[in-house]
Amino acid sequence: MCRTNKQPTTGTDIPVVSRAADAGPDKSAGPAATTPVESVLAAPAAPAVAKAQRGLRLLRVSSLLLLAAIAVILLCRCNDTKMTVPPGEPTAPGASVVRVLLTSPAARQVEISTTGAYWLKVDGQVIARSVSAMPAVAVRRRGGAWQIGSRVARGSEVLLLPARDSMVHLGGRCYRGSLRLLADADDSFLAINHVEMESYLAGVLPKELYAAWAPATYEALAVAARTFATYHCTTTGRRSQYDLGDNQASQCYGGYSAETPKSRAAVDATRGVVLSYGPRGQERIFLAQYSACCGGQVNGAYVIRSAQRIEPLEGGQVCNDCAACSRYRWPAVRVRKADIRRALAARYAAARKLTRIDRIDVVTATPYGRAVWVDVVGNGESVRVRGEDVRLALIYAGIPAAKRLNSMNCRMVDLGDSIEFTDGRGFGHGVGLCQWGAQGKALKGWTAEQILSFYYPGATLYRVN
Ligand SMILES: [Zn+2]
Repeated sequence: MCRTNKQPTTGTDIPVVSRAADAGPDKSAGPAATTPVESVLAAPAAPAVAKAQRGLRLLRVSSLLLLAAIAVILLCRCNDTKMTVPPGEPTAPGASVVRVLLTSPAARQVEISTTGAYWLKVDGQVIARSVSAMPAVAVRRRGGAWQIGSRVARGSEVLLLPARDSMVHLGGRCYRGSLRLLADADDSFLAINHVEMESYLAGVLPKELYAAWAPATYEALAVAARTFATYHCTTTGRRSQYDLGDNQASQCYGGYSAETPKSRAAVDATRGVVLSYGPRGQERIFLAQYSACCGGQVNGAYVIRSAQRIEPLEGGQVCNDCAACSRYRWPAVRVRKADIRRALAARYAAARKLTRIDRIDVVTATPYGRAVWVDVVGNGESVRVRGEDVRLALIYAGIPAAKRLNSMNCRMVDLGDSIEFTDGRGFGHGVGLCQWGAQGKALKGWTAEQILSFYYPGATLYRVN
């Protein structure tokens, strides 16, 4: 489970597409209708020619059965370009698609397969297709070429397109949508799942919330997570080959394998609904961050990133409904100053001028005492960083004590060679929706809309498709 630490992301807010009538389910938004290739219904024959037509029909039926039998034999024997009946494209026209990076760091080898019909392309050229499932095949990249099972193909990307009722497997997980393998270097590549937004969310919620939690909690997070993803698709995603990762650096995602009836129900109940903010007619989607447990007071986004201050992310709400979280309060954590210096130097070039750390001064803090900016002082030098970035630097550097430093909602006490982080509260950055708090409110009878109104005050619900 990873219900914390959405990384601070900068960017401008984006306009929404259309106003939702309400926050309820969109009954009209179902799967796209399938266009029949040809009608299977015919007008009744006139009586005078009916007998002759019956004979002809019997002949036609016999011929068709023979042809069908031959086709089945051919299709069973063939699993590649000899096929004449390609599977359909997997994504409904006009659907909002999210591109999720599944490999971080880049992969050198993966195993792929499908549950049914598929196309396999290299740089747009079909190299295999079948109406049958693809068995598990190892994909490697060596010296700038792809090795796909026994095949070798040059190119920059491999695309595995399953038919609409088929899915792909990667590394033991099953995913809806298609799988794109994109060369990262001569010997490594990225695996990216292209999946419709609503299906993506059904694979996010069970990775972010406990299975037993309330439907209202799931629905509230569905809206926040959809807003978070939509924001990235239309900002940072436009400059990248993917929109989001599949871990806590963005939103945890487990594909179809992670989906549950509860997650699908929450997505359906909120289909297309996002949060927005602004004057009527000028509302914009914003980066709707959320975290595991705020520890008693919701943080403003300014605590973790630079962005225009807006009411929904201003923070300051008192939230005691997250008290059931085991990390609502947590014991003191000591970290050696030498480890802090090393972690900061690895992440920030400016910190490399520090040969030692003498002290850490809090420059600015929230009204409830959480450090926002700190000066790290040593050998006559001073480096100013966000308090949150001290914690993230320790985590990225793999400092063992950082695993117990659950948030920067704490006080720092100088112990000489080390800093003690004490009076710790909460888990994660504490901005936006507090997942444990949302669950506490749901247990008290709050609806998803009430939960969202509390954690993102002033925000409006919109339906984007
Ligand atoms: Zn809370």
